[in-house]
Amino acid sequence: MPFGWGRPSHWFCAIAKSGIIRAAHSPQRPARGFAGSPPSPPIFPLPAILAVVVSSAHTLADRLEALLPQTQCTKCGFNGCRPYAEAMAGGEAACNRCPPGGAEGIRRLSAALGTEPLPLDAERGVEQPRAVARIDESLCIGCTLCIQACPVDAIAGAAKQMHTIIADLCTGCDLCVPPCPVDCIDMVPVTGERTGWAAWTQEQADAAHARYLARKQRLVREREENDARLAAKAAAKLQALQAEAAESDAERAAQERKRAIIQAAIERARQKQQAARSSTAAQDIGNTGDNNNDKPKQSGQ
Ligand code: SF4
Ligand code: SF4
Ligand code: SF4
Repeated sequence: MPFGWGRPSHWFCAIAKSGIIRAAHSPQRPARGFAGSPPSPPIFPLPAILAVVVSSAHTLADRLEALLPQTQCTKCGFNGCRPYAEAMAGGEAACNRCPPGGAEGIRRLSAALGTEPLPLDAERGVEQPRAVARIDESLCIGCTLCIQACPVDAIAGAAKQMHTIIADLCTGCDLCVPPCPVDCIDMVPVTGERTGWAAWTQEQADAAHARYLARKQRLVREREENDARLAAKAAAKLQALQAEAAESDAERAAQERKRAIIQAAIERARQKQQAARSSTAAQDIGNTGDNNNDKPKQSGQ
């Protein structure tokens, strides 16, 4: 079942809570008819009920996402908070997989889902004080791998330059640590004994979410600009090739082969761009967060 639709049981509860089923089918209440007359047909047609079903499922995923800390750390095993929220809404993941939210986060999620709170899934990590990344700048070789890994753009630096963490923006997600080739990033606890939501505020979560979305938009923009640059280069090469005069049949055949290769590459690039645009548009429909890869991924703590 695709994410975002929710479990049938959730649909049923949502409809039942809305009163539609009671109003339409209650045997004790032949609401609009004479006593003893046959039960009235359903008041709401199927499309209206389906509309409630769909919007309720989206609302649940949205509500669950809003309860998550937005560090985008992937410790839940999903590629960010939004895919995890959708998996919970779809009944495909339990509400105890988010170490940054800790026990309080689980309590909030289980209340929203109407389930009993569970202990944090130990395979996902432990609840601990929030940390902030710190780079030993004397060791940094400016490879930029940490910048590429940071989901909220909390690292400043450029190729072959020293990098530094913008501590106020760091969510403590740890994602910059594994790619560093010289192991010069440490995670430094900054919240004393406080853990989970006691070490993280809703304002911080909202700010992290906004930065995460802004980064996603920046990456799309950069990819499109790069694709446009490559397409312009290929078109110029094709034009130059067409202007070249061939002096023999062999040369003409070689030019023709090259032209065909470049034209095919241009067409592939065009199709790739089109697919990327469609995928971005699909993600934007009814989705304020990350939906680009809903598959659970294995991540260590
Ligand atoms: S574990 Fe990380 S990515 Fe998953 S929901 Fe929690 S904060 Fe978001
Ligand atoms: S600097 Fe590192 S730990 Fe901090 S948010 Fe970015 S990737 Fe996560
Ligand atoms: S990954 Fe490590 S070495 Fe590379 S830029 Fe970041 S801190 Fe420097």
